[in-house]
Amino acid sequence: MIISISTGSVRQACENTSKAIKLIQKQFGEQIQGIELCFMLKQELDEFTLDEESIKFLDALQFNTLHAPVIGLDYGRNGETREIMQKIRKINSQVTLKQITFHPNHVSDFSVLVESGLNVCVENLPDGKTRKGWQFPGEFQKFFSKWGGFGFCFDVNHAMANGAKPVEFISMFDKKIEYIHLNATAQSGNADHALLTESSPETIEKIKPVLALNKPFVIEVNINKEKTPLIKKEISLIKTLEQQAKEE
Ligand SMILES: [Zn+2]
Repeated sequence: MIISISTGSVRQACENTSKAIKLIQKQFGEQIQGIELCFMLKQELDEFTLDEESIKFLDALQFNTLHAPVIGLDYGRNGETREIMQKIRKINSQVTLKQITFHPNHVSDFSVLVESGLNVCVENLPDGKTRKGWQFPGEFQKFFSKWGGFGFCFDVNHAMANGAKPVEFISMFDKKIEYIHLNATAQSGNADHALLTESSPETIEKIKPVLALNKPFVIEVNINKEKTPLIKKEISLIKTLEQQAKEE
């Protein structure tokens, strides 16, 4: 089983992504097989550097991914996209990135991503003014029939925040799913990226079919600094639930 942690999960405990890698290495390094380098702003990516120690740590892991910046961006034939793709390729030359995930509502020209030569995933999104058309399984089915080269990053919390059951997605996209953003919904209708350890048994039941999939799981939660140590508990719970889900 592959378990990875998004640097976004420790965002509130660290100043930047470089420091987040160090924190994850120190606190959870022994328990994980990958890290997702998560950037929300282009500036965070621009300023991101990897030192020798982090390259060595990441190199020893088998499933590193990158979440491309989102806020204020439009991916297409423009200078910002070129700069971002260049920086991602540079990181990819230092440590192998298995997948690069984009929020599809921020892409106006998907051919630019195809031409990057990188493994690109699109992610299902929660409700929001600019996110219409990227929330439900049928919408992605339409997209993949046109753009078959893209993979799918399935975000559990985003699906549940829309009232969709994870099983609706996984029965349709089992083969398309490259990896899972694993998180829960503490309050229904909320894109709150909660921990499974803090979720209700009903929520866990809905998530269980996801854990039976043989796909990499990236813990992508939104928690405050004090809760960072709970990620250790989260990893144990994921392992237990995976065991149970596969037996059922
Ligand atoms: Zn996500």
